[in-house]
Amino acid sequence: MSNLQADPTVGPEGGPVEVLEGATVALGGPRGMAVTRTLPNRRRRMVGAWCFLDAYGPDDLAGTAGMRVGPHPHIGLQTVSWLVRGEVLHRDSLGNLREVRPGQLNLMTAGAGISHSEETPRDNSGVLQGVQLWVALPDEARTGPPAFAHHADLPVLTTGGLRATVIMGSLGDTTSPARTFSPLTGAEITADAGAAGVVPLRADFEYAVLTLDGAALIDGQELKPGPLLYVGEGRTSLRIAAGPATRVLLLGGEPFAESLVMWWNFVARSHEEIEAARAGWESGTFFGEVHGYDGPALPAPPMPITRLVPRGRIR
Ligand code: MN
Repeated sequence: MSNLQADPTVGPEGGPVEVLEGATVALGGPRGMAVTRTLPNRRRRMVGAWCFLDAYGPDDLAGTAGMRVGPHPHIGLQTVSWLVRGEVLHRDSLGNLREVRPGQLNLMTAGAGISHSEETPRDNSGVLQGVQLWVALPDEARTGPPAFAHHADLPVLTTGGLRATVIMGSLGDTTSPARTFSPLTGAEITADAGAAGVVPLRADFEYAVLTLDGAALIDGQELKPGPLLYVGEGRTSLRIAAGPATRVLLLGGEPFAESLVMWWNFVARSHEEIEAARAGWESGTFFGEVHGYDGPALPAPPMPITRLVPRGRIR
């Protein structure tokens, strides 16, 4: 056994934590919105079934088009859209048209295939901040029918000075009504300046925390907006304290056992599946049609020259 971390930080419970730095990515090209992508990470591809995490904003939308993500396809995943500020309008090939606002969940289950677009609506508050997440579907669920759900009334767990809105899965005894396909947790936790509390965890889950606003102390370690703090497995609780008024995202789940091929907007298991999905999108026949988006669909990038290889959750 060897510790691969150059600089492990030992927490009070559950062993070392890892600071996973994000990469800055321009959505929709160099003039598009800038996002900070912390999953998949160079060192760690997943946290539970969570396989993708983009955080963006707060952005002042004055003089910009805001979010403009034209129609594009997905397979093998769920998209979780969660806002801190502003609003995003979702359209999909099932005919759903739904605006999402802070405190609400837009959950799209791609299954065998769906396409959608996301845009800042014409009437908007002029500011935008949020996260876009993907959950990998386990093999038995990944070719099921596509679906979309909007959840405006999510349960809240209050513990000490923390208020946790349970977005996906369960936190303690509090469970989101959103449909999930593997044991996981997704929660937004807010705390007033100086407040603190302890959230219940499952020892068989792995967890990570992202600060969205303010600055948090996670088991004593300061976490500002930017990197994802991986706190690992084997914990039954996590202490969160706020410096200034703070908002964090807590992600967790059973470590995902299957190896994945992630390419563009697809989560699959083989090179051939990705090729087929790409061809299905380019042909315009497989993923249905998104109506009403004022702009072009996104073309698939060319297939890589080398074969895509399934990879596990840790690189
Ligand atoms: Mn998408």
